[in-house]
Amino acid sequence: MRIAIIGNGRAGSTTARVLRETYGCDVDVFSDEGALHYSRPALMYVSMGTVDASVVVAALPDAQHRTIGSLDELDGYDAIVIATGSIPALPNWCAMVDEHVQCYTQWSDVAHLEHVIVSKKRCVVIGGGLLGAEVAEVLHHRSAHYQWLLHDGGVFADVLPREESELITRHMQGDGIRMALNADVVSIVREGIRVTGVQLHSGEIVPCDHVIMATGARPSIALAQRAGIPTDVGIVVDASFRTSRPNTYAVGDCAQPPWGLRATWHDARAQGEHVAHVIAGTASAYLPQLPSMQAKFLRKEWYSVGAIDASTSSWYWEDPVHQRSVRLHHIDGTLVGVQTVGVRLNREVCEEWIRQARTVDDVRGMFAHAVVDPEFTPKVTL
Ligand SMILES: Cc1cc2nc3c(=O)[nH]c(=O)nc-3n(C[C@H](O)[C@H](O)[C@H](O)COP(=O)(O)OP(=O)(O)OC[C@H]3O[C@@H](n4cnc5c(N)ncnc54)[C@H](O)[C@@H]3O)c2cc1C
Repeated sequence: MRIAIIGNGRAGSTTARVLRETYGCDVDVFSDEGALHYSRPALMYVSMGTVDASVVVAALPDAQHRTIGSLDELDGYDAIVIATGSIPALPNWCAMVDEHVQCYTQWSDVAHLEHVIVSKKRCVVIGGGLLGAEVAEVLHHRSAHYQWLLHDGGVFADVLPREESELITRHMQGDGIRMALNADVVSIVREGIRVTGVQLHSGEIVPCDHVIMATGARPSIALAQRAGIPTDVGIVVDASFRTSRPNTYAVGDCAQPPWGLRATWHDARAQGEHVAHVIAGTASAYLPQLPSMQAKFLRKEWYSVGAIDASTSSWYWEDPVHQRSVRLHHIDGTLVGVQTVGVRLNREVCEEWIRQARTVDDVRGMFAHAVVDPEFTPKVTL
């Protein structure tokens, strides 16, 4: 079998590996970024200088540096896997990125930011989510001149409940991160092509030479759309990651299966592996794991498992001394999700409790079982 895979990120490279190693397929992987695969979550550590670039990069035996503009270019393959990932979501006042306005999602962005840091340019980071926090941390760590502008009243406030967002915001401010809350950016101010500042809705201009846009991401679906494949937010696929086009699949950040978009490293790997078995004809049903995420805000870890959205009710515990929290999300007293700040969480234990439909009272009594490294963690008593 000859398989074409578009994208060599976590999803595409995993599909390629399983097809090649388990099934002996003939695989071609195409990437517009370059033939090397790298760990996207590790970009910030490369920028900080705490991880060597060589550690996060891997050569794929079957990858080529080539942009696929149309699926018609891939006639003759037995199957096509679209693993095009996601692209930055830019607001309408930022129509383009160039030398003075960049994103931070690709390997080339690391080199660009490095040049900016070394040139001692004054930076503004726009966007209060995970990516904005990562870039602010990088610039802080590198002692760069920067200001982080957050649209909301706290860090990651569009996902976190108010208390957790405030906890993390206080923690980051306490460590000296320079952030401006409720900063509603309306334009980037330029003299010619040179950037001189960022204008806020209040009229204030924040002076800078360089802007890093961290305003979110959306699935990369243009290639599928050009091929006439149905798309919604992502590329619509069934529970086996099949699109409506014969022998054409989509996995990872770009794919929208029946249970919804899951733009995480872990999901991209699991979907990439599964679709390889589907193509080889050996797959059993894909069992999507409960949604889970984790992130670090200047050493303060945040974990979430299960449903943590506003449609749930929640029970909240906060430890002001150690700046940490636990929130148990429930529907009518039955656990549906858990999120913690400053408490390292064992995902499997929480998943088990959610599957068993444990009550919040039950879980409070045995929460110590879900704490990783309890011997190094001040006791959590809910
Ligand atoms: C800075 C950063 C930090 C992150 N940190 C975390 C984290 O801590 N935890 C976590 O779970 N997730 C994290 N993520 C998200 C995670 O990286 C993604 O969910 C994951 O990489 C998705 O993998 P993928 O293979 O679907 O897509 P991608 O990794 O985006 O790979 C898609 C590839 O396809 C290429 N491509 C697109 N179109 C074409 C075309 N037409 N022709 C050829 N090539 C094409 C793209 O250029 C890209 O190289 C982070 C993302 C970023 C940007």
